[in-house]
Amino acid sequence: MSMPIKQMFIDGEWVYSQKQETFPVLNPATGETIAIVTKGGREDAQRAISAARRAFDESGWAQTHARQRADILNRVADLLEQRADEFAQVDTQNNGKPLRESTYDVADAVNQFRYYAGLCTKPNGQTYDVPDDIQALVVREPIGVVGAITCWNYPLVMNAQKLAPALAAGNTIVIKPADLTPLTTIMLFECLQEAGLPAGVANLITGPGSEVGDEISRNELVDKVAFTGGTDTGIAIMKNAADTVKKLSLELGGKSPNIVFADADFETAVDYALYAIFANQGEVCSAGSRLILEEASYDRFLDRLVERAQKIVVGNGMDEETEMGPLISESHMNRVLSYVQLGIGEGAKLLCGGNRLMENGLEKGFFIEPTILEATDSSLRIVQEEIFGPVLVVQKFQTEQEAIRLANGTKFGLAGAVFTNDGAKAQRVIRKLRAGITWINTYHPTFNEAPWGGYKQSGIGRELGTFGYEAYTEVKQININLQVKPSGWFRN
Ligand code: NAD
Repeated sequence: MSMPIKQMFIDGEWVYSQKQETFPVLNPATGETIAIVTKGGREDAQRAISAARRAFDESGWAQTHARQRADILNRVADLLEQRADEFAQVDTQNNGKPLRESTYDVADAVNQFRYYAGLCTKPNGQTYDVPDDIQALVVREPIGVVGAITCWNYPLVMNAQKLAPALAAGNTIVIKPADLTPLTTIMLFECLQEAGLPAGVANLITGPGSEVGDEISRNELVDKVAFTGGTDTGIAIMKNAADTVKKLSLELGGKSPNIVFADADFETAVDYALYAIFANQGEVCSAGSRLILEEASYDRFLDRLVERAQKIVVGNGMDEETEMGPLISESHMNRVLSYVQLGIGEGAKLLCGGNRLMENGLEKGFFIEPTILEATDSSLRIVQEEIFGPVLVVQKFQTEQEAIRLANGTKFGLAGAVFTNDGAKAQRVIRKLRAGITWINTYHPTFNEAPWGGYKQSGIGRELGTFGYEAYTEVKQININLQVKPSGWFRN
């Protein structure tokens, strides 16, 4: 049975790519093709960017009142909420994550649209008391055409997170989801259309990063690029965007430390150490992928951790029992497995896992066991590099200073946590972590109200919260003469 080809959305219309090419989208739990999607290329991206440019410069969207934009975004949230089950199921079928996680993601995306619908109607700007009979004020305005490029680990949320603030602030946008997971973004555009977004204001291009993403990051009609993905890709995009001095937000990779002191609540710390790395199959930029354990509780902690890791139920995300799903693709699975072998070759000790799961129907998908490796030396590549899968690397420390040194000892700086029952120590340590997203005695909870982003090579700028809204605005000062008369600067 042939499948209908899913289209892209350019200038208010659903269209096929100019080259009429397509690509398959797979379910990573079964290896089956679940959709055929039109494969956009450079010309399609250019068309979409021109449409967004026209919509920004000529359609009046940038001059709409905040209330009008808020009404549309609230309608998008309502439509998304009405189809919440469908969205969650498609995200699970396309990404593999357990249904309970996709369900949470849909609620998160709904909240993002409501949050930014509310925020854009709130007071903004500043006034200053300055001399010379001038009334000085500062206003925020939309940047213009935003080009957004996203990755596959949170297919719906990643795109909602860029669309909602960009549109709330009055920008127009061209968005390119990851080619592995475009399906819920296509559905989200159905909601945007139904909610009454004018033609050209939001455009969707499905296609490869090497063409579509590359065009977005270079095209001079794009004013800002908002990117979520790997650090190497982020560096390439930054270089391309430099030629036309685009504004840039980069949400990149991580190798985040989770420091556990011996005085922490034992079961809580074990529990969160598992959650930190194995939630969403470890395909989380902020995953706690380095466990930094105090020597005094090291052996006992690892025994319990391994015991519980081995009990995690791995399977198809659509099964209610499933706690961890498959990796996104065969090639990504092989990359993760090769890191395990690399670690063993480097001298790390495998404590559990490390294998592909090949029984009970899982052999058709890309499943691997929850894996824990013990590393003796920080210079190992498995300590320094992002694996982006269910692979935890454990290191031992003796002093607070050593824990901080290990924690900060990579090029990344996205997230980090500390577990201890000593309140002062917790705050001392967390303030020394060079990371943008941190936790004390917990791991992972973050909220749309708070800024999201990294230090060091984990990125530039912040998404979410008020910071993430401001990132889609330009700042303009306006000086108003309160005494309208000549300046008298020149005598004649
Ligand atoms: P990736 O960098 O390979 O791809 C991300 C996106 O960029 C995709 O849409 C891809 O098509 C596009 N792309 C690829 N090459 C491009 C190019 N030359 N020019 C323009 N666009 C291009 O990343 P990935 O492997 O899909 O995602 C995993 C990475 O994303 C991890 O490093 C992870 O940590 C990171 N990530 C970061 C955050 C964050 O908030 N900091 C969130 C999720 C994922």
